Amino acid sequence: MNDNLHQLRCFGCGARIAGPDALPNFRCAQCGDLFEVEYPGWTLRQGTNRPNPGALKWLWRERRCSSEALDQSGVWRFRELLPILENYGNAITLREGNTPLYALTRAARVLGIDQLFAKHQGMNPTGSFKDTGMTAALSVAKERGFEWVACASTGNTSAAMAAYAARAGLRSLVLIPEGKIAWGKLSQAMDYGAVTCQLKTDFDGCVKVLAEIVREEPIYLLNSVNPYRLEGQKTPAFEIAEALEWTVPDHLIVPGGNLANSSALGKGFRELRELGLVARMPRISVIQAEGANPLVRSFATSHGSELEPVEAHTRASAIRIGNPASWRKAVRVIQDTDGWCLDVTETEIAIAKAELGAEGLGCEPASAVTLAGLKKLRADGKVASGETVVLVLTGHTLKDADYTIDFHRGTLLKEEEIAGHETEVDGLRRNAFAVDASPAAVLAAMKGNAG
Ligand SMILES: *Cc1c(COP(=O)(O)O)cnc(C)c1O
Repeated sequence: MNDNLHQLRCFGCGARIAGPDALPNFRCAQCGDLFEVEYPGWTLRQGTNRPNPGALKWLWRERRCSSEALDQSGVWRFRELLPILENYGNAITLREGNTPLYALTRAARVLGIDQLFAKHQGMNPTGSFKDTGMTAALSVAKERGFEWVACASTGNTSAAMAAYAARAGLRSLVLIPEGKIAWGKLSQAMDYGAVTCQLKTDFDGCVKVLAEIVREEPIYLLNSVNPYRLEGQKTPAFEIAEALEWTVPDHLIVPGGNLANSSALGKGFRELRELGLVARMPRISVIQAEGANPLVRSFATSHGSELEPVEAHTRASAIRIGNPASWRKAVRVIQDTDGWCLDVTETEIAIAKAELGAEGLGCEPASAVTLAGLKKLRADGKVASGETVVLVLTGHTLKDADYTIDFHRGTLLKEEEIAGHETEVDGLRRNAFAVDASPAAVLAAMKGNAG
């Protein structure tokens, strides 16, 4: 197999270019659509250069015991399926990936599903799945000799980019919507030394400003329009298949914001199947917040052929995106796999997040849309009890501690949002009691809250 043979293919018109020839904004010069990385060396179409599935499975597992940094990364461990670098010595890794697949036993019992798992991507070095994409795309930036990298972000992309840029010795520029990202994420960008600009606009406005900057300056754009990000973000699909002994789950459920992650995971499973590493693809469903649901609307009004941007409102700041860049790719994944696209309310998100927390698996509000969505799908009879379901938890609970505290203190949801859900919310809320510094007072607090 030719290790370095990759090219970019326009998702819209199919035009092909060599990787380094992409325009600074990673849009096709002909039709304006996004690119996808492809590897002509090992597609089925071209036959014989395909990697041997058995040998790869053995090699990837073996690397987990290696002391080499590249092998210890859950992204680069699979480097045969993302040959995007000329020289692997340029790879910048923080040992991302290799995240746990946890059984969600309590939620499975309540929902009447036999096999329910959470792939916890919040257990990455900077606390979100963005690390898996950033190790890939930032390594490309390093290899191509860029000195500056930049992104517009709802928070986690900037945290990941800033960390990997710092490791690589590159400077990084972050554009975030003022006052609209969680503190944990902003603190990371500052900690890792990014030039951080808070703009008086939303995420979609930040994207526009940055597009003009990269057109003029030699700055490498690391938003998820950068197709190399998706190459890293497809690797959790490999890990899930590996963890299930090279079977695939029946159903994978992913939050949808800019829609790169769902697109990447779909690409990962598609490639596994094309290469004969697994027999089929899982159904892949995308869940959005009700106030930031342009893809749901697109399916409702045009079967996914048009997307009307919306002004996005949700407390789940990581998916507060009204004009998702990768929507066409996500539509293809959902349609190819017979998946669903639906939205959930703010109340459903808050409840699902608290339920995951009560199982010992904290996550970001944006991640909790997966459980909220599964509950709806199950109630609608769209998930059978015998299915194996995997929820992708995208971010760590400490990213947005304010949200969690507000929920438990009772200041998150408005009264009209709780209406109809009082029992669930009451059952999940935990107080932080202010009591006298005496054993009796503490014991009284325990008794008062037993149950
Ligand atoms: C980025 C992000 C998302 C959304 O992923 P997209 O690829 O933009 O759809 C969801 N959850 C968290 C925690 C994120 O950081």
